[in-house]
Amino acid sequence: MYSMLSRLPALAPRRAIKAKPDWARTVTSMPQLQAQVRELGDDIAGIGRDNPLFLKNDSLVQDSSSPVRPVILAGDQDRDEFWRKVPVWENISAKDFLSYRWSVANTVQGSTKLLRFLQAVIPEEVPLDESGTRMQVRDEFIADVMGGVAAATMSIRMTPYVLSRVNWKDPRHDPVVRQFLPMKSMLMADHPKLALDSLHEEADSPVKGLVHRYADKALFLPTSVCPTYCMFCTRSYAVGADTDTVAKASLKPTRKRWEEAFAYIEKTPALQDIVVSGGDSYYLQPDQLTLIGERLISMPNIKRFRFASKGLAVAPSRILDESDGWVNALIDISNKAKRAGKAVALHTHFNHPNEISWISSAASQKLFEAGVMVRNQTVLLRGVNDNVETMSKLIRGLADNNIFPYYVYQCDMVERVEHLRTPLQTILDLEAKLRGSIAGFMMPQFVVDLPGGGGKRLACSYETYDRKTGLSRYTAPAVTGRDKENKVYEYYDPVNATETVTP
Ligand code: SF4
Repeated sequence: MYSMLSRLPALAPRRAIKAKPDWARTVTSMPQLQAQVRELGDDIAGIGRDNPLFLKNDSLVQDSSSPVRPVILAGDQDRDEFWRKVPVWENISAKDFLSYRWSVANTVQGSTKLLRFLQAVIPEEVPLDESGTRMQVRDEFIADVMGGVAAATMSIRMTPYVLSRVNWKDPRHDPVVRQFLPMKSMLMADHPKLALDSLHEEADSPVKGLVHRYADKALFLPTSVCPTYCMFCTRSYAVGADTDTVAKASLKPTRKRWEEAFAYIEKTPALQDIVVSGGDSYYLQPDQLTLIGERLISMPNIKRFRFASKGLAVAPSRILDESDGWVNALIDISNKAKRAGKAVALHTHFNHPNEISWISSAASQKLFEAGVMVRNQTVLLRGVNDNVETMSKLIRGLADNNIFPYYVYQCDMVERVEHLRTPLQTILDLEAKLRGSIAGFMMPQFVVDLPGGGGKRLACSYETYDRKTGLSRYTAPAVTGRDKENKVYEYYDPVNATETVTP
């Protein structure tokens, strides 16, 4: 089977689916912590030492002699102004960089802006291989990226924060670039079983934008836009703008569509748990976040809900920016839900330790102090986090920031992500090697979201796994309805599991 698959034709044009739609400084004393908190507050909000954000928590000032845990272990040794390494932002102050308005205005979106940005930041030559013995001139690299953009199923949008976490001197091998910028030379022929909607979300949606797969849980998609677009998005069929190859199923944030979803949730008493995703909850206005949260709190059947947002990983300054209302809306809803005896969480999405900085650490600390539960969902990606050292560092970095490492997902079988997928064996090995390295409640579950809509299963719970053909089979007895009783779900390893492509 593999020999046959490896002879698949080169990339072919896709069918557009129009109708378908420290401050990692280790703190050793309370006065030192207080000083750092004040210093950070000054810089971020520019409103002086009384910044309520950081000084509200009386627990920080109770006992100056008590030992203090290392608050933030972010990978940066101090409050490094890392964005200044990007040539176009070398004169940008911390105050500007930490303003969400500045972040939105300087987000790189679409191929024209991307081209301009790359021309400004890419050096004359960049390494072609990891050892740096072969080099590629700037224009060739940029042409490779633009060729990838033309073939991709996801449109381009990257925040200044994400763009600042990249080593632009060697972009080809950067783990952040690899997630958000396609390169034509790296794309591989798709496994024939890949699909735009590999989890069959549309088929499992009784109402547009509401996926009801598990008996007690539904996924509500109020919007289809995100602050940054991931090339491996499981919702490639709907998220982001149309690309040259895919016409997206639109999930506009209209009140009419939302009311239909709310009505379905209300009249389905078995539903107790709602995931509000998208798209990304960061692209809901604060009043929209409040509206959705209050509606869910008011429904007697709903006991839990979570907002999914990659914002903390790609634009953390918004959490710290007092001039923006999103985080206060989230905190208010979290507190209201608690008073109603319901649980609310923020689910975020870090994939590599380089995405954690002192800014994301300060934002996480703010949410932690405000009592907002934050969990993380990582996608296992080839060439990004598919080794023990990187995954271990990521899990520990999250845990040290009080972000619970909830899931590590096997990459879904989505079109045009063959170069990012790993064989199932990789996730099994990672789980086996990492378990026991950190407290059990900080150890993520390593899961496969079953193609065809079987839901999440522990990766190690396969019924069969043929390592020669790359085919693993799972069952999901608790997922029923829509002809799913006794259904066997199949996950296929990538055709070329080990190949790393360079032009
Ligand atoms: S943030 Fe989530 S929904 Fe948005 S593009 Fe990335 S994976 Fe898709």
